Amino acid sequence: MSNTTNVKAFAAAAVDADLKLIQIDRRAVTPNDVEIEILYCGVCHSDLHTARNDWGGTIYPAVPGHEIVGRITNVGSAVSKFKVGDLAGVGCIVDSCRTCSSCQQDLEQYCLNGFVGTYNGKDKHLNQQTFGGYSEKVVVDENYVLAVPENLDLAAVAPLLCAGITTWSPLRHWNVTKGSKVAVVGLGGLGHMAIKLAKGLGAEVTLFSRTPGKTDDAKALGVDQVIISTNKDEMKSVRGKFDLIIDTVPYVHDVNPYVETLNINGTHVLVGYLGALEPVLQTVPMIMGRKSVAGSVIGGIAETQEMLDFCGANNIVSDIELINMQDINEAYERMLKSDVKYRFVIDMASLKK
Ligand code: NAP
Ligand code: ZN
Repeated sequence: MSNTTNVKAFAAAAVDADLKLIQIDRRAVTPNDVEIEILYCGVCHSDLHTARNDWGGTIYPAVPGHEIVGRITNVGSAVSKFKVGDLAGVGCIVDSCRTCSSCQQDLEQYCLNGFVGTYNGKDKHLNQQTFGGYSEKVVVDENYVLAVPENLDLAAVAPLLCAGITTWSPLRHWNVTKGSKVAVVGLGGLGHMAIKLAKGLGAEVTLFSRTPGKTDDAKALGVDQVIISTNKDEMKSVRGKFDLIIDTVPYVHDVNPYVETLNINGTHVLVGYLGALEPVLQTVPMIMGRKSVAGSVIGGIAETQEMLDFCGANNIVSDIELINMQDINEAYERMLKSDVKYRFVIDMASLKK
């Protein structure tokens, strides 16, 4: 197709294939677009789920990456919010219908016509799948681009674009404030951001983890208490305690023991696992305590900007391990073993090598 720019990217060609270097097309900048040279891209567990078709529906070749930060290299004629040279971020959403009731309320993540994902979505302009941030450049409508605070370490900002907003949105929706009792299930990419952001909002924070070896790290991240979720006595010690639990576990797990630890009116929010719950969810503790089990997906564009500004003002970034693009397959294996503190971020300069 003419009028496109050919750029380098890393892609999975099939469900069982390692990610490898390919060339992809980026659309020419339209009046409302900005072109961003990608400097860093975070590695989310969703990237791995998509590359390996865990959720079904992956279109190959798949270029993952939705924790993008970089510098603007070109702007369309109608762009008003950004100029060449600005820092910019792109998260999980690059477009939505803009007219449904969700979009009208700045809830693009719940667009009734389906938001356009940064990868594995449908690019309206090129009529092909969208390609994510494991690449040199991206072209995005300015309305879906975020301003990045200048005072933070740029590489460590990248994970805020997904892990940050995915945990910020439920904290805000369920009105977490000073003194709220919040628990986080799983200390990974999302979990460590949930801890930092909840602490930033003044909450008392508990971590539920399977992994006793993470206790010291959790304390260093600001956690007030660690509960080993496989220890029945420890679980009993926090019965009826929490206003909000953010559950980041990616795979099927028993939610019932966590519901027991909710206070009256408390909510257990699933953000990690997509699918049917096993064993079945018991309703008695929910009914007898007006408790909820809920879900939440990323966050809207305005809310993402609010989160980035909050992080800028409070010096909050992700704890990262910087890798080269060529190390991505090994990074996926390590992520599966929870062997990362606490987010891999790709240094995109490595793609030029
Ligand atoms: P991650 O870095 O791999 O962290 C997941 C954590 O969950 C692990 O560190 C581990 O913590 C725990 N865990 C892993 N496997 C487990 C198992 N079988 N049983 C119990 N606990 C387990 O992943 P992430 O990037 O934070 O992503 C977490 C999930 O959220 C993924 O499924 C991802 O696709 C999803 N996600 C959702 C949204 C959304 O909008 N809702 C956005 C981004 C990502 P411990 O060792 O401490 O137990
Ligand atoms: Zn993600």
